[in-house]
Amino acid sequence: MKFNSLVIHGGIDGDKTTGAVTVPIYQTSTYAQEAVGKHSGYEYSRTGNPTREAVEKLIADLENGYRGFAFGSGMAAISSILMMFQAGDHIIFSDDVYGGTFRVVDKVFKNFGLEYSFVDTSEKANIIHHIEDNTKAIYVETPTNPLMKLTDIQEVARITKERDLLLIVDNTFMSPYLQRPLDLGADIVLHSATKYLGGHSDLVAGLVVVKDEELATKMHFVQNAVGAILGPFDSWLLMKGIKTLAIRMERHCENAKKVAQWLSEQTWVKKIYYPGLSTQKITDSLREQMKDFGGMISFEVNDEATLNKILSNLKTITLAESLGGIESLISVPAKMTHASIPAEIRARLGVTDTLIRLSVGIEDVEDIIKDLDVSVK
Ligand SMILES: *Cc1c(COP(=O)(O)O)cnc(C)c1O
Repeated sequence: MKFNSLVIHGGIDGDKTTGAVTVPIYQTSTYAQEAVGKHSGYEYSRTGNPTREAVEKLIADLENGYRGFAFGSGMAAISSILMMFQAGDHIIFSDDVYGGTFRVVDKVFKNFGLEYSFVDTSEKANIIHHIEDNTKAIYVETPTNPLMKLTDIQEVARITKERDLLLIVDNTFMSPYLQRPLDLGADIVLHSATKYLGGHSDLVAGLVVVKDEELATKMHFVQNAVGAILGPFDSWLLMKGIKTLAIRMERHCENAKKVAQWLSEQTWVKKIYYPGLSTQKITDSLREQMKDFGGMISFEVNDEATLNKILSNLKTITLAESLGGIESLISVPAKMTHASIPAEIRARLGVTDTLIRLSVGIEDVEDIIKDLDVSVK
């Protein structure tokens, strides 16, 4: 089945018992057993729940992996992946990963003896330079937030395969519609399903897909042992969101391209971060890695007065954190999502006080542009 059909019919399609075209919400904690140990395959809902299993099978199909796992948030998914490692293991992370990922590694897993390096993974030499005897995995986010830095997944996969390391990719910004890391050589792919997969800003969830049985056994052990699972209702809601992923992503990309192009023509815009602009230099390999460039744009304006003018009187776009929903969201990373990073580090990374991040929604693009147009405000 091709992708646009798979988002609708992948995983478990409908309900065999009743013919219902959607998977039922099995709102139950436990399951009756016929005799001791004789059951339908379900014993207790932390271990397995049919509604959760349906969304897990669906994401496994979409990422072309062996098995999927659903968690209560993106952070629960990331934490559960990290719990497959041991004290003394070393992991290399992209240096501008999601802030929550940095925080959980640096403030929580550090206390349990996990060793780590945050490096610019867009440069192969940086990665190789930081590989130690106890390095077990490389964890990559591409594109990154908010500066849209790209890492070549196939190139990193060559490094991890040669050395028997795991390659973990946070695919939140792209979704499997635009980028499939397992096909590019990754071992584990994860999502904050709160963003594009859910797509409607109405739930918080995390998804993981692994490429083989051995990793699936390990991941399921942690999921069941630690218990950071997604509930049946949110699993169902997430499935409903995923069904329109393909058509939403198409419009996100189309709108973002038009907004980025328009921004590039404005004199008050100093810099634009959007890999789809013809002025952004990217390699052929990176161009092939992603089907299109997604719905996220960051741009720097000339001064704070311009920034304030944009933010005052927004009609279509909402000032809010998060991304990936049908509605356009705008944020100022230096003052919102990245406020906890010291000013000098922010400056070095390029997250200036006049940097704006835009999650381009699927509204009429003219309305989105009208909100940004300071010349008519
Ligand atoms: C939001 C986000 C996360 C964290 O996910 P939650 O669902 O908020 O816990 C992880 N990675 C990326 C890239 C994100 O955007």
